[in-house]
Amino acid sequence: MTRTVQTTYRYRLNPTAEQDAQFRQFAGARRFVWNWALNRKREHYRETGKTLSYNDLAAELTRLKQQPETAWLREMDSQSLQQALRDLDSAYQHFFRRARNGDKKKGFPKFKSKKTDTPRFRIPQRVVLQDAFVSVPEIGLVKLVLHRPLEGVTKGATFKQEACGHWYISLVVEQHIAPKVDRPTQTHIGIDVGLKSLAVCSSGETIDNPRWYRTQTRKLRRAQKALSRKVKGSRNRGKARVVVARVHQKTRNQRNDFLHKLSTDLIRHYDLVSIEDVNVRGLAKTRLATSVLDAGWGMVRSMLTYKADRANTCLIVIGRFFPSSKTCGACGLVNADLTLSDRAWTCACGVHHDRDLNAARNIDREGIRLFEQLVAAGCAETQNACGDSVSPIVTVGAGR
Ligand SMILES: [Zn+2]
Repeated sequence: MTRTVQTTYRYRLNPTAEQDAQFRQFAGARRFVWNWALNRKREHYRETGKTLSYNDLAAELTRLKQQPETAWLREMDSQSLQQALRDLDSAYQHFFRRARNGDKKKGFPKFKSKKTDTPRFRIPQRVVLQDAFVSVPEIGLVKLVLHRPLEGVTKGATFKQEACGHWYISLVVEQHIAPKVDRPTQTHIGIDVGLKSLAVCSSGETIDNPRWYRTQTRKLRRAQKALSRKVKGSRNRGKARVVVARVHQKTRNQRNDFLHKLSTDLIRHYDLVSIEDVNVRGLAKTRLATSVLDAGWGMVRSMLTYKADRANTCLIVIGRFFPSSKTCGACGLVNADLTLSDRAWTCACGVHHDRDLNAARNIDREGIRLFEQLVAAGCAETQNACGDSVSPIVTVGAGR
């Protein structure tokens, strides 16, 4: 039996000036419908104490399009307008869920302002890729940068204009992949999130923070300085803001590219990958950890999770209370005195340790131990069953 998985492909678009204007109109229409529908829902609730459903609003939207002053909506893609109603609907659902859970931030749906809302719209179907073009309803063929081929059946498309001015399309596709099989775990690796470097592997390899990171930081600082010198509300300030946004975008692209390659490499080369469940936010609060956040360890982890699930690799995420750094890999003694600044230490048993390498090896060993435990318990195949039943493990994706 094959499995169906969803993947998102993101491409840069190169619309003509006319298409660019149409995109912005679509995004404006989406915002208009969202605000109109939110207003309707609030009014209706105030008057009757009841909520308007998606179907009620969809019917009202059809009538709205008949009104002369809002007849311009007819020129927009109708599905993308309905999608705005659906998005509002799910924003409400999330709000209700958070309210039920007693969350502090309930996030009641807000009106979208032209100034702060990122121009975007979604078309659920009918967006098709044709060579280096994408066919968009009502707009036609739009050029895109096909940096990798699309595989699978398109299920929806989101168009978004980044702050740098470029439009991007995210296509959700469904793919059929081979079923899960048991895979022997002959090759294994443990990875420790480094503070000086991005990560240290139990194999002795160090993954350094990429060099472009520094260059980009410098560029960003320069662009931000230039921006702060410009007069508020001036044209030059607008231009300087775009420059800052472009540097951000470029950094983001480079980082994602780097992290994708790293995670794919790991998954391809090892049967069993063990990592620690690092509290990235907690780490970020400590002075040492800016590199952890910048390098995007949280992203590596989510990439590893879905890639492992597809590629027959087992990913073990070890609970954050496992003393990976403080345990001596040779004798098992826990050195409670070890501080964050100790880069190397000598155990009472006489073995000298490099802090990160020792931690990576402990993670590897613990990962194997937990994996064997899972196999013995007979639940190495299903991701959630494992995650729920064995508490130190958050994710186990074994086999395809
Ligand atoms: Zn020892």
